[in-house]
Amino acid sequence: MPANLLGFALTHPSHGIVFRTEVEETSMFWTKTFIPTLKESPEGAEIPSHVLMLRAGLINQVMAGAYTYLPLGMRSLRKAESIVRQEMDAAGAIELMMPSMSPIGLWEQTGRDEAFGDVLVRVELKRHNRKVTVVLGPTHEEIVTDLVAHHVSSYRQLPITLYQITPKFRNEERPRFGVLRTSEFLMKDAYSFDTSVDGLNRSYEAMYRAYCRIFDRCCLAYLPVEAESGPIGGDASHEFMVPAGNGEDKIVHCQMCGYAANLERAEIGSRQGSEAPTSLLPLQLVATPGVSTIEQVSNFLHCRPQDLIKTLIYLADGQPVAVLLRGDHEANENKIRRAFRAKEIALADPRTIEEVTGAPVGFAGPIGLKKDIPLIADYDVQYVRNGVTGANKADAHYCGVNLGRDFQVSQFADLRCAVDNDPCPRCSGSLRLRPAIEVGHVFKLGTKYSEALNARFLDTDEQLKPIIMGCYGIGINRILAALIETTHDENGIIWPVALAPYEVVVIPVNVTDERSREVATSLHDELSKAGIDVILDDRDVRAGVKFKDADLIGFPLRIVVGERGLAQGNVEIKWRWEKTAEMHRLENVAAVAAEWIREERKTGERFKAAVYRTTIGRDR
Ligand code: ATP
Ligand code: MG
Repeated sequence: MPANLLGFALTHPSHGIVFRTEVEETSMFWTKTFIPTLKESPEGAEIPSHVLMLRAGLINQVMAGAYTYLPLGMRSLRKAESIVRQEMDAAGAIELMMPSMSPIGLWEQTGRDEAFGDVLVRVELKRHNRKVTVVLGPTHEEIVTDLVAHHVSSYRQLPITLYQITPKFRNEERPRFGVLRTSEFLMKDAYSFDTSVDGLNRSYEAMYRAYCRIFDRCCLAYLPVEAESGPIGGDASHEFMVPAGNGEDKIVHCQMCGYAANLERAEIGSRQGSEAPTSLLPLQLVATPGVSTIEQVSNFLHCRPQDLIKTLIYLADGQPVAVLLRGDHEANENKIRRAFRAKEIALADPRTIEEVTGAPVGFAGPIGLKKDIPLIADYDVQYVRNGVTGANKADAHYCGVNLGRDFQVSQFADLRCAVDNDPCPRCSGSLRLRPAIEVGHVFKLGTKYSEALNARFLDTDEQLKPIIMGCYGIGINRILAALIETTHDENGIIWPVALAPYEVVVIPVNVTDERSREVATSLHDELSKAGIDVILDDRDVRAGVKFKDADLIGFPLRIVVGERGLAQGNVEIKWRWEKTAEMHRLENVAAVAAEWIREERKTGERFKAAVYRTTIGRDR
């Protein structure tokens, strides 16, 4: 096997630190490795990244949610991992490795055995006739906090940020979309420990900046968005999202001011009634037998969903409350929870609904509720004229319902999910809703885990205080899937140099031609010596097959050695994302290729300029 142990030096412009990557062998002959490409799209693969990773021979499915990384997939995964590790180290985080297995007791102490429910993978082990239950970690807050609780006792030992890159296990209800959502995946998880909220803010900021560098180096078109913040509140959580048609998350984005947030979190700017004032109709009770959903009611009464006011009965920390929303809007439970200042919020059960409204489920309304409960309306409800609501009676609705005249509310608040074209909360622009893939998450935890697991430190004032924590995750596999999902064309994957399994493929058109084979092999050797990741396609197959595979796998740079070109002392060189090839003199081509690759490693600029403009451009 033509292997050498040359690493390569890499300077990243954002901080000028010189790294060596951890790719051990930089060259390979196609016939000596294992690249089982597929001609056809495999059954069950629904989205481009899944189809292409299978077809390009990067992964192989073992079962739903579990994949083998084949040699090429493994190389890309290692490159992503290596970028993440370099940036974590550069940000001052300290690497360690915690086991996948941990005792269930730790998870009981924080209540997360229940919170995770079936997602938590529990394994029963037999030890000396005793059964013990262990957990396969879905994340490692419990284990790392327990570690710190045992070994950190003074402010002098803080702050510290610990991280690892290890497999995580989640029994996802629906593992799907290839490696975007699997039961076992590789995560970089980091945890910061500080003595003050200011300290936490600094640690968080350092991780946030490292994340920007990581995703930038991976050439992902990412967007940091505000996310649900949990106990610390405020600006305490960001997700790093890659907008993509098949993303499972929803984000809103204002192109005017750059405001971006997860849909769960997204605020909405001040709203106005869109229609001219109409005269008020009298309140009227109408029979609506068996008609209860928004769709049924609007069909039955020939009105638009936005003319309906829906009344949702929730339990806020166990107490029934009512929420009014326009019929076409969707409730945002985080906003509702905050509006009622509750810790927990859940839709009420049918019995509670009957008790509160006096009617079966589906006929609740703000007029004549049986019980006097707090009633909050979303801002948009103010502008509904002559609306339709449930009548708190079986099979009946009110028409001509008007706020102020027919019912009152105790408060207005922002209670719904944003929709396309909603006003931006920060400027006069409007919000755009788009699907996205979450590749990373930074989160200010506060003291939830340190209190539960007794991780305290003696402060300068001799007081014992809980350590203030943050946690920071990146899905390494998802980096690859998100990249492929957004940067491919009809022929296959388009890799940036930073993540490509090999940076250059050298293709002799006809391997049976001795001169072509010799030239191709020596180009391969020369590039390999220069520290370039290069693969020589030495298969004795039709040239068309090799070109197709090269495009499918998506090596960034392709060098083609053909008999005709050689006769004039030329070989062909082409970036994967460019349409046309350039001819170069044989004696120069290795130096040119090595130079281009080195440049591209540093900046990814050629890739970004070409690919963001075309592939991602369509999606933006
Ligand atoms: P999701 O909402 O997609 O289920 P999450 O918010 O539960 O993810 P975190 O706990 O924030 O995930 O984990 C950190 C990172 O790990 C995520 O940003 C994502 O990139 C990755 N990740 C999470 N779950 C999976 C999974 N099942 N398969 C692959 N990667 C995952
Ligand atoms: Mg998350």
